[in-house]
Amino acid sequence: MERLFTIPVNEAFENAAGDAGGCPFCALVEKLTNDEVDLILGASMMEPDVRIKTNEAGFCDRHFPMLFEGGKRLPLALMLESHVARVRERMKPSGLASLVPSKAGAASAKTVSEIAKSCYLCDRIEYNLSRMIETAALLWESESAFREKTEAVPFFCLPHYARFLDAAKERLSGREFGEFFSALSKKEDGYIASLGDDVSAFCRSFDYRQGGEPLTDAEKRAPERARDFLAGKPVEQAKK
Ligand SMILES: [Zn+2]
Ligand SMILES: [Zn+2]
Repeated sequence: MERLFTIPVNEAFENAAGDAGGCPFCALVEKLTNDEVDLILGASMMEPDVRIKTNEAGFCDRHFPMLFEGGKRLPLALMLESHVARVRERMKPSGLASLVPSKAGAASAKTVSEIAKSCYLCDRIEYNLSRMIETAALLWESESAFREKTEAVPFFCLPHYARFLDAAKERLSGREFGEFFSALSKKEDGYIASLGDDVSAFCRSFDYRQGGEPLTDAEKRAPERARDFLAGKPVEQAKK
């Protein structure tokens, strides 16, 4: 288990408890995103080894706006200057393919789609997140206190639930994975049942024949809660 991640994972599970909480891995993604955006706009921005990676990977449509929010237009432009130059270089056909236009086109399509899909921040966040999910599975295996924390989490969003199950299946013995699955699937089923009821209550509130029943806060937020459960909580902005 990577000790580095036990503290943030424990914290995220503690903070996720209770009705106001949510998926602890979504909270970790938000924290990782904010930390990475701060780093890239600060200390990392001019570091040569980081520059090599940003030149190669670039940024995605979700993370580019966060960088522009930071307001550091010149350092950002300097990073883009070398990235754009590198993209141009990679887009040029090379080797034998460059001699035959149809082959050059096919090779270029592959390279361009790789460039368009890659993102330095997505890579960094994913690298850390996958280790955090693995750490959570190992903590569940080794610490009863962590099992209690997991029990107090209201739900895991579906994408992170799938990954948590996969990580546990990979790491835990058959018997322990069985226990893990029983505990988590019960939680997920309970949450999705009540979420479904709340979405129905929200829909009914638009039917004048059923009017009069005031919605609870959880029912008012039912569409957003369904989104967060089904797709994970969106990380809209870096905090700064
Ligand atoms: Zn999540
Ligand atoms: Zn990204």
